[in-house]
Amino acid sequence: MRSANSYPVEPGRRSVSGALLDSMSEVTPVPEVVYLNGKIVPPDEAVVSVNDRGFLFGDAIYEALRSYDGRLWAMTRHMRRLARSLDAVDLRSADVDEVRAAIEETYQASEIPNALVYLQITRGVAPRSHAYPRDLRPTVLITVRDIAPVVAGIDFDGEAAVTAPDLRWRRCDVKSTNLLPNVLAKTRAHDHGAREAILVDTEGCVTEGTSTSVFWVAQNRLFATPGGPEILPGITREVVMEIARDEGIPVLAERVTLQEFRRASEIFLTSTGHEVCPVIRLDGASVGSGRAGPLTLRLQKGFRARVAVGDDEPR
Ligand code: PLP
Repeated sequence: MRSANSYPVEPGRRSVSGALLDSMSEVTPVPEVVYLNGKIVPPDEAVVSVNDRGFLFGDAIYEALRSYDGRLWAMTRHMRRLARSLDAVDLRSADVDEVRAAIEETYQASEIPNALVYLQITRGVAPRSHAYPRDLRPTVLITVRDIAPVVAGIDFDGEAAVTAPDLRWRRCDVKSTNLLPNVLAKTRAHDHGAREAILVDTEGCVTEGTSTSVFWVAQNRLFATPGGPEILPGITREVVMEIARDEGIPVLAERVTLQEFRRASEIFLTSTGHEVCPVIRLDGASVGSGRAGPLTLRLQKGFRARVAVGDDEPR
C-alpha cells in the first residue's frame, strides 16, 4: 500500500497554485437557498450556535441528493438511508417525514431544475460534554444549489484516481459528518491531479472512494465491494446493481486486494454527483485499455436511461 504522501502525480493535472484544486473542488461558495430549523432564511442569516454538537463533535448525520429537470431523484431511498443513519446514532428525535417535507419545500422554493440538495441533522445545542442529553432539539439544515458547477468538474469519459489508506471508523455505513479521513484523502488526490482517492483497508483490500462507491470488471465479470459496515450503502450503487441485474449482468460482491484491483480491465465510481464515472488511471497507471470500458459505458447509459424516465422507486 502506498503511504498517504506518496501519490503519483497525474501528468498535466497537477497544480500547486490551487487553481486546479479549485476547479476540481466539489464545493461551490454560496448556497442558493437555505432552510434552517423550520424556515427558509437568507444564507447570511443562517447561523448555528457554537454549542451545536454538530460543530463541536461532528455529532450529525447528512444526506446529499439531487434533482434532474425539476424532480428530486431517489428521494425515498435517501430518506430510507437517512432513517437508518439516525437510528444507528440514536438520533431519534428527528422526524424523517417532516424532514422530507422540508426538503421538498426548500427545493420548490429554489426553482433550480438541476440542484444539489444537502441535508444535515445535528443532535442539537448543549454545553459541551461528550455524553448527550436525550431531550435536545435537532438542528436541521438544508441547502439547495445549482449542481452544474459540480458536474462540470467531472470527466464522465474517464477520471484518474489514486489509492490511499482507509483511516475511517468502523461504521462507514452510517452517513455521519465525521469526514476528516475522507477530506484529507480527497484533497491529496486533487493535489495530485486525480478526482478521487480509492481507500484501502488495513488488510490491503479496497473499500470505496472518499465520496463514491467502487465497481470493477475482471475476466468479464462485474464486481462491487460488499455491503456492510466498511462502506456507505450508496444510492447510486444500489440503482446500478439493479440495472446490471435487469440487463442480465451478475454483480459479484467481493473483497478485492489492491494487487488484484490494479489488474481490473475496468473500474468505475458511482455517486449522486458522479453517476457512473469511469476510472481510466489508477495511481498513474492505465486501467485496462486506458479508456472507459464496455461494461462501464453500458451501465452509464443504463443509469441515464433510468434518470430520463424517473425510475427511482426502491425495488
Ligand atoms: N461512499 C461514500 C463514502 C460517500 O460519501 C458517498 C456519497 O457521498 C457514496 C459512497 C456515494 O453514495 P450515493 O450514491 O448515495 O451518492
